[in-house]
Amino acid sequence: MAEKLIFEKIVDKSALSDGITIPLAYHEALYAHLNRRLQRGESMPVQLRMNGTVYTVQLKNQSFDAQKYNRSDILQIRYSRKSPIAGTLRTVFSQTREKVDLNTAARMSGERIILPAKEQEYIMIYAAQGQPGLLLEPVTAGDLSQEMDQLHVLPEMMIEEMLSADENAGIDEKVRLTKVRRMNRAIGDALKALYGYRCQICGAFIGESYGAQVIRAHHIDYFSRSMNNDASNIMIVCPNHHAVIHDRNPEFNVRNKTYRYPNGFVEGLVLNQHL
Ligand SMILES: [Zn+2]
Ligand SMILES: [Zn+2]
Repeated sequence: MAEKLIFEKIVDKSALSDGITIPLAYHEALYAHLNRRLQRGESMPVQLRMNGTVYTVQLKNQSFDAQKYNRSDILQIRYSRKSPIAGTLRTVFSQTREKVDLNTAARMSGERIILPAKEQEYIMIYAAQGQPGLLLEPVTAGDLSQEMDQLHVLPEMMIEEMLSADENAGIDEKVRLTKVRRMNRAIGDALKALYGYRCQICGAFIGESYGAQVIRAHHIDYFSRSMNNDASNIMIVCPNHHAVIHDRNPEFNVRNKTYRYPNGFVEGLVLNQHL
């Protein structure tokens, strides 16, 4: 059955207790799958499948004082702390839960706890074709570390190629990367579609005239050292920009969204909806 990634989310305190906020860039994909839009303040029940069990959760477009806050919609999957789904998530993501629980000081102050990338766990939300509701696939730190231990010795571009390769491309006969690759491909494919297969740096859609979608999902903080698969660490670039980036290792300025090259050249993004 064909599955499409709707979005992925790093597991945080909120996901283990009351809900998951859906990043703005993915609202349209979600509405398209559900075949319905929500006005501000509106909510609807949604079936969420996880490891063979179906949970009913609420999808809510939060209302807020639009005069006070000038911002876009806040779309959330909501459930209560005592609900079965919250309990299951706390069991599955016990590593995140322990770290969040340990950090009492931060919890008391209501501060957001951000785990180092290597310890992050992920919730992947997929839509299965012809099926109502959504599929939640948990990817734990254990799943990831097991597979990623094998990668340390390889150069970055080879790792990225392996991560985006087809299952049967034969590129990694000795390396098992089932979960990491599935996740990485799903995130990369969703972002490529979001940008219409155009490079975020130059806007080019290489291969358009040929009916080909030649585009790369690049890890801004190199995957070989960050192990960070989150969409916020992935940029969609054409093969030329990808080659130049790996050749020169420019520094990415997260605030300005610009690359600075060793020769002083600075280049920004012409397309950006998710960084
Ligand atoms: Zn480009
Ligand atoms: Zn790259």
